[in-house]
Amino acid sequence: MNKRKVAVYLKKLGNDFSLIQNPNYIHPKFELVQLAPRIVSPRNDLIAVVMDMDGTTTTTEEICIHSLEYMMRKISGRMDRNTWKGLNHEKDFPNIIGNSTTRHVEYLIDTYKKDIKLNELKKSFIESAVWTLLIGSDNQRKDEVKSSLRALNCESILTNEKFIELKNKRTVTKTDLRNLYTHLQKKYKNSLSIVSFHDFVRASIEIYYQRYHEILLAVSKGKSRKVAGEILTDKNKHLIEPLAGVGIFLALVKGLLGNEVVKVTDLLIEHYCRITNETKENINLRQINQKLLALSKKFESNPLKVAVVTSSIYYEANIVLTEVFNVLRDEVSSWDISKNRKKFIIEKFSNYKTFYDAFVTASDSNEIRLKPHRDLYSIALHHLGIESKDFDKVIGLEDSESGTIAIRSAGIGFCVAVPFAKSVGHNFEAASFVAKGGLPEVILKIL
Ligand SMILES: [Mg+2]
Repeated sequence: MNKRKVAVYLKKLGNDFSLIQNPNYIHPKFELVQLAPRIVSPRNDLIAVVMDMDGTTTTTEEICIHSLEYMMRKISGRMDRNTWKGLNHEKDFPNIIGNSTTRHVEYLIDTYKKDIKLNELKKSFIESAVWTLLIGSDNQRKDEVKSSLRALNCESILTNEKFIELKNKRTVTKTDLRNLYTHLQKKYKNSLSIVSFHDFVRASIEIYYQRYHEILLAVSKGKSRKVAGEILTDKNKHLIEPLAGVGIFLALVKGLLGNEVVKVTDLLIEHYCRITNETKENINLRQINQKLLALSKKFESNPLKVAVVTSSIYYEANIVLTEVFNVLRDEVSSWDISKNRKKFIIEKFSNYKTFYDAFVTASDSNEIRLKPHRDLYSIALHHLGIESKDFDKVIGLEDSESGTIAIRSAGIGFCVAVPFAKSVGHNFEAASFVAKGGLPEVILKIL
């Protein structure tokens, strides 16, 4: 069946089905997936929350977008804003947020194929492959680079004398690397075979990952501030930080705030007003305090299970969440709560691995089964020990179209979209509720 025929059938089936497009090298090209029946309002007896990482829990989506744009700049030889303005917010962002890296890169290669310069692509691919093998610290990525070199007829780089020499050297300087790049580019540019669409995607993915991992490596070495200055427009921000309200949300649903929850009301409202542009004067503080006290009491006796579910690979998610919890502990220490409570919550936030009840990354599945496929969320539900009869007691939080579909595909009927600035243009039909005010709004209006 072709896409058009499927679309006709889909219309007849209503809204509770989704058509998922697979990466280019997968059969079939499209899969028709049944979504869980939509639940309109959340149950009072929730048992778990499953939530996305990039764009929902943290600000890292910005780094992914930056790395994709960097990749496009490298392969089209347009490194500055004078030669190319960069990715288009409205047109491109819905296609490069929330899906698998392969699908994001496929979209960009297809959309900007006229701008790609094969020579630049070859040069940057060799650079990225060498960086990953010599400087990168993720072994899974190194293996993938080796497969790419093999697939693109350039495996002999691995046995090149100068490459091995640098590999065995204790410290590799930037000049060492640059010299090696030039040497290898000259030697292997002609034998490197990038012909089909799939080859273009494969080589470009390496460039994307190299940039992303270069940034993560800097973060893991405590150089977050320095890199932030190069990438973010707002220089006062951390490169990786929890999104507004994440700390309060996690502490609340885990029942950690007790009756001191009212001491963070102001902060919560501040977050909410900043995101939604609403004014504080319109908010009934007494009513909110009552609601928060009731919620806090409920979660204190029945804390929710919390899973974080991400299409990022383990290596990335580990660095990102470690940094997020570093910042969370700083945040909590500035909350206006008692000393003992602070100590208690900071202790709970000491390690993301012990905090979350389930932590699922792309490395638990495979690139071809990432969101919008159900797999990562199904794995999370299984790790949480939740049976399918109780899926209606789970709430799912996602900032992207494909994420919301993944949640519904996994059998969860109540999905809330929490778009951030760059994903507001997504289609959130699969969500029961779109909380433009992010997690603060989820606390104030949905729980
Ligand atoms: Mg996301």
